Amino acid sequence: STIVNAPNALSIPQSIEDNPGDFRMLTGDRPTGLLHVGHYFGTLQGRVRLQNLGVDTLVLIADYQVLTDRDAADRLPHYVEEFLLDYLAVGIDPSRSTIFAHSAVPALNQLLLPFLSLVSTAELSRNPTVKEEIAASGRDAVSGLMFTYPVHQAADLLFCNADIAPVGDDQIPHLELTRTIARRFNDRYEPLFTLPQALLSRAPRLRGLDGSAKMGKSLSNAIPLSASADETARMIRTATTDADRHITYDPEGRPEVSNLLLIASLCTGHDPHELADGLDGAAALKRLLTEAVNEHFAPIRLRRQEYARDRAQLRAILRDGNARASAIADDTLARVHRAMRTAY
Ligand code: ATP
Ligand code: MG
Repeated sequence: STIVNAPNALSIPQSIEDNPGDFRMLTGDRPTGLLHVGHYFGTLQGRVRLQNLGVDTLVLIADYQVLTDRDAADRLPHYVEEFLLDYLAVGIDPSRSTIFAHSAVPALNQLLLPFLSLVSTAELSRNPTVKEEIAASGRDAVSGLMFTYPVHQAADLLFCNADIAPVGDDQIPHLELTRTIARRFNDRYEPLFTLPQALLSRAPRLRGLDGSAKMGKSLSNAIPLSASADETARMIRTATTDADRHITYDPEGRPEVSNLLLIASLCTGHDPHELADGLDGAAALKRLLTEAVNEHFAPIRLRRQEYARDRAQLRAILRDGNARASAIADDTLARVHRAMRTAY
């Protein structure tokens, strides 16, 4: 088989390349659906690269944040297991990285209370990502958690003093709020917290196959990492393109076609303009993209199937990660209590 020269969507700052051991990264995902190629090029690939460089890596399954806008809690255990399979398959190595779930780390959740006291309701209600998500939820009633989950995310990053978070661009406002909270805590009490930075990839917001603004877990416009080659082909065949037979890479003018070229470029390492030059029509573009995705993800999908044989191992990995995260969170909470004079 052809060896795909898999490119990296992320360029890593020199300071991290030079001294990876000085950095800690944290990032995570909500178990609301299957992880897809948008997650892969937006953040998963970056996590693996940072981990492999020697950056201390924490990966969070944000189960408590599913409650923000979903009722379907019965699907949680399923998606948590699917996430673990995806993480392992893409190369997150539990012997080097800590994989844990919100609900299993009580001390992390306790940070929410002092952190909430450090932000105003005005700051919470003008968060642009929260506004987008409220609009997208299509619900009349908006839960209090919808406005406060970014503060919970601040607790995620700050409990472990993460320096960097490889994320998609919807997380930028949350990182900004996290830095504000850290700064205010440090000023008011004691300088305990590091101010974390977002690390964006070349695909900070991959569009859906339907051309909509974001490939999303629950939007039926995503190629899951776990899809088979045939399922991938079927989904790409239905992708939205436009009426112009001549294929060009023009993200502003031709968002749908350009997104497909971008995904093919990320999978193959070829320049999207060059890919476009060799193509005659949308069907050819779709064939190229199908081959690129299936080739790039074939080894990942194979590893996923192998890991899926041992479900007990998955649970053990999560238990172990939960314990490691809890130890860090207990230590941070004790420091916070001392700083706030709530340690008696
Ligand atoms: P949900 O609709 O349930 O919120 P989501 O697709 O936004 O699902 P999250 O779990 O909220 O997924 O996000 C996980 C990470 O993946 C975040 O860093 C987010 O920015 C990133 N991400 C999500 N979708 C994309 C995308 N289409 N392109 C690039 N990055 C993405
Ligand atoms: Mg989201």
